[in-house]
Amino acid sequence: MAEKLISIDQGTTSSRALLFDNKCNLLNLEQQEHSQFFPADGWVEHDPEEIWKSVYDVTEKLLRRNSIKPKNVASIGITNQRETTLLWDKKTGEVIYPAIVWQDRRTTNYCEDLRKDKSLVLDIQERTGLLIDPYFSGTKIAWILDNVDGARRKAERGDLAFGTIDSFLVWRLTEGRHHKTDATNASRTMLFDINSHCWDSDLLKLLNIPKRILPEVCDCVHEFGETSLFGGKINIGGIAGDQQAALVGQCCFNLGEAKSTYGTGCFLILNTGEEKLTSRNNLLSTIAYRINGKTTYGLEGSIFVAGSAVQWMRDGLKLFNSASETEEISKKRHKNSKVLVVPSFTGLGAPHWDPHARGSIFGITRDTDISDLTAATLESIAFQTIDLIGAMQKDGATFSELRVDGGMVSNNWFSQQLADALNLSVLRPKVIETTALGAAYLASIQANINPDLESLKKLWVCERKFIPQKENIENLKNKYSIWLSAVKRTKGLFS
Ligand code: ADP
Repeated sequence: MAEKLISIDQGTTSSRALLFDNKCNLLNLEQQEHSQFFPADGWVEHDPEEIWKSVYDVTEKLLRRNSIKPKNVASIGITNQRETTLLWDKKTGEVIYPAIVWQDRRTTNYCEDLRKDKSLVLDIQERTGLLIDPYFSGTKIAWILDNVDGARRKAERGDLAFGTIDSFLVWRLTEGRHHKTDATNASRTMLFDINSHCWDSDLLKLLNIPKRILPEVCDCVHEFGETSLFGGKINIGGIAGDQQAALVGQCCFNLGEAKSTYGTGCFLILNTGEEKLTSRNNLLSTIAYRINGKTTYGLEGSIFVAGSAVQWMRDGLKLFNSASETEEISKKRHKNSKVLVVPSFTGLGAPHWDPHARGSIFGITRDTDISDLTAATLESIAFQTIDLIGAMQKDGATFSELRVDGGMVSNNWFSQQLADALNLSVLRPKVIETTALGAAYLASIQANINPDLESLKKLWVCERKFIPQKENIENLKNKYSIWLSAVKRTKGLFS
């Protein structure tokens, strides 16, 4: 019987395929890393063929090793690194340039030029929910059309297709039969009007991008097509970009519910319901999900450095061998330690904004040791979360709790600090593979295994609730205000 679900999670560093049963319990997974290319300062690329091969391989292995036949699979859900941009030839399927990854900053000057027109900044924010930035796909597409020989001519003839990773995978999985994306991925291109739900002709004109290269934009639950590459037909039934998929995986379906994912960086999305909330504090409005033609919006903020600060302590400073040691080490910090870390390794994001800022450490004394430094680094991620939540509150949002996931939240000390710093209950779910789970949830609705989002809520199980501890709330409040002064001193130092 077709009762299993497969989630394909194509991330920035690896591709994974996960097998779920019809209750959305995780049964097994396969994972394969792929290469990162840095051809010039600020450039980040992926090899599309390597990505495709890794996705095919992990899916094939997952089916084979678990003796699952395509007829046993009810639906495939896809979730993906967002914004990463590909263009391919519609006839041959060949990609014409490496995938330009979301982290890539090559269109910085172009964006700075666009930003000079203040009314354009507001107009683009109103239409797309986004701030003009190289992060989003639009200027990356323009760069490929302008810099790859013959690309523009081909695009104008209708011979090229643009896609984010989800679109590319649907195209390859269905052997070129479908050129589609979902509304969450479309909302990260800076070309999609999130109010009227169509590609924006004015923005396409501004960036000189022919409309005919763009995919059809579908709901997150949709029949995206069938793949026959695994020895039988399997339907692709759900798609969402990784952070939106995590919001679905965390069952944040009500207005005011929010999730924060602490991986390499941190991404916080707040469900703002059927209303789009436009930020005046440098946050992004985005499509959280679109199901049965009904859109739910989100407000999104990100922290550039979260788990990567832990990696820096492990690999750069060699303070410990494994990230998991940070929990025990942090508990040993000196009681009166005043050490503060500003982890702005790659500049300061919202709401401080200084791309030239670099990291700094304050308050070191003769007895400062590894535990003080480790605890202060973890604490700085909690402080940055206060910044984000504060910006959202200024935009009119209210919070009752925060659901968390990602590698860092397995650290109980960090999760407790987070609750204390935010003075908010922090809830860690039983399944912290929320991104892949969200894609499986979407596919399960398409396969009629679950009728709607409402029915998924009962599947969300809290593994541990971190309740703010009175004695630490005041302490962290004071520390946070000193930390803000430290951030101020860091700003402008290197610009
Ligand atoms: P990504 O999906 O971005 O690769 P993950 O969600 O897998 O990230 O989380 C990995 C990150 O979490 C790494 O940066 C790692 O340093 C950090 N991390 C993992 N375990 C812990 C821990 N116990 N305490 C603190 N940080 C951790």
